[in-house]
Amino acid sequence: MTDAAKSHGRLSIRASARPSDLMRETRRVKGAWMAKVITLFPEAFPGVLGLSLTGRALDQGLWALETIDLRPFGQGRHRNVDDTPAGGGAGMVLRPDVVGAALATAGADRPADPQRWPVIYLSPRGRRFDQAMAHRFAAAAGITLVCGRFEGVDQRVLDHFDVEEVSLGDFVLTGGEIAAQALIDATVRLIPRVLGNQASTEEESFSDGLLEHPQYTRPAIWQGRGIPDILLSGHHAKIAAWRRAMAERLTRKRRPDLWRAYCARHGRDPEGDQEL
Ligand code: SAH
Repeated sequence: MTDAAKSHGRLSIRASARPSDLMRETRRVKGAWMAKVITLFPEAFPGVLGLSLTGRALDQGLWALETIDLRPFGQGRHRNVDDTPAGGGAGMVLRPDVVGAALATAGADRPADPQRWPVIYLSPRGRRFDQAMAHRFAAAAGITLVCGRFEGVDQRVLDHFDVEEVSLGDFVLTGGEIAAQALIDATVRLIPRVLGNQASTEEESFSDGLLEHPQYTRPAIWQGRGIPDILLSGHHAKIAAWRRAMAERLTRKRRPDLWRAYCARHGRDPEGDQEL
């Protein structure tokens, strides 16, 4: 509490996160996509997902978020959730009985079919998350995410629940929460009406396996740099052709892996001449 709040000797009323959290739980469009997140840090949610377009969509009930606190499933008086790794070594491992109990709770009222409701452990060992996965998750009824901490989760619970492992990329985070929010963000924005303008997901990066063309806006001249004339020409077909050519050029230069896959799909020679 600040000194200013104390100095007048009266109760200071402070904004709390609780009421809005409670409101968020009650409003849900029937059948709306839902993310259940098992975490030691439920206070990390909704985090950035509560802002801007994803936050507004959450408030409108277009998608729903339920955090499942791992701590109450812990063992003994101290609600221990972890223990030392079998075989020795540094760090701690999340216990299978604790994570298992949380997963059983999360699974109680959802479809058992993993197509309809994927169960995922965020893990650097997992398959790398991509836009195709985001589309697959958005088409499901919802998703359960397990956020690891410390050295990760006991293997047996992953095997027992047939958990799919998904990685955000080839780096190691301290916990799964940021990865879970990234995955949810990319997925939720594909749900109809979340973005408002659905067309914007159709042209952006990866929509046809290409990186997006450069974007410009006002002012027309900034620091002596202009906007490419074609974008100001009002000629829609030419603009579309320019954007595609730029997207191809960028993808070819920056992401040879994406470029080869794109060329294979379109029957083009990846070493061939550029179209513009
Ligand atoms: N010992 C583990 C890393 C544990 S990091 C290993 O070497 O594989 C702690 C937790 O952070 C993990 O359990 C996982 O949930 C999360 N995490 C770390 N890096 C991640 C990544 N690249 N993608 C998704 N989750 C990650």
